[in-house]
Amino acid sequence: MNLLWGKIRHSIGLGLDLLYPPRCGGCGATGQGWWCPTCSASEAALGAEGITRAMLDDGRPLLEIAWARFAPPLREGIHALKYGGSPQLAGPFGERMARAWQAGAPDWAADLVAPVPLHAVRQRERGYNQSERLATVVARVIGSPLERAAMARQRATAQQAQLDRNARQANVAGAFFAQAARVSGRRVLVIDDVYTTGATLRACADALYRAGAADVAALTLARA
Ligand SMILES: [Zn+2]
Repeated sequence: MNLLWGKIRHSIGLGLDLLYPPRCGGCGATGQGWWCPTCSASEAALGAEGITRAMLDDGRPLLEIAWARFAPPLREGIHALKYGGSPQLAGPFGERMARAWQAGAPDWAADLVAPVPLHAVRQRERGYNQSERLATVVARVIGSPLERAAMARQRATAQQAQLDRNARQANVAGAFFAQAARVSGRRVLVIDDVYTTGATLRACADALYRAGAADVAALTLARA
């Protein structure tokens, strides 16, 4: 039923694109695509600054790469991607993430690309998982398979945006579960939209390592 509704919505979306030209997710300009040339020119790519070699509490590695700074107009673009019903922004954003990944970690060969899962209730409300949309594009560009079901949320969590750093860690600790059959012995690239404290990515990496992943890295769209 949800799948059917998704397809209907997608078809309606294609029809609406013809009637109403897309509106830029950054500045609202019409007729210049979902991400206009002016907003593209205002992106603050992080380059080498966006690469962090982090470690989990038990010493296992977590390479983290973020493409750009979380600042206008990208901030508005991410809001449109997450809450504004503009999943199309995953196209241009995912391509930029993939290029940042290829430049930052040329030797890190991902066996699979895994999105940070949304809780099922939230995904139903939104109609899609923005991280999965980004992961789909990243997987295509870097040529690694997308594994949607590598991880699941085993409990609902409060919205991270409303919490401080310590509360964020406690909020997501143990929230994720990874499928050993899909990740064991493999190098997993986790995809998320915004990196704030890294608590969500660390919780995902922990779940993946516990399920036997050989190595874990994370790629995000923006770092706050
Ligand atoms: Zn724009």
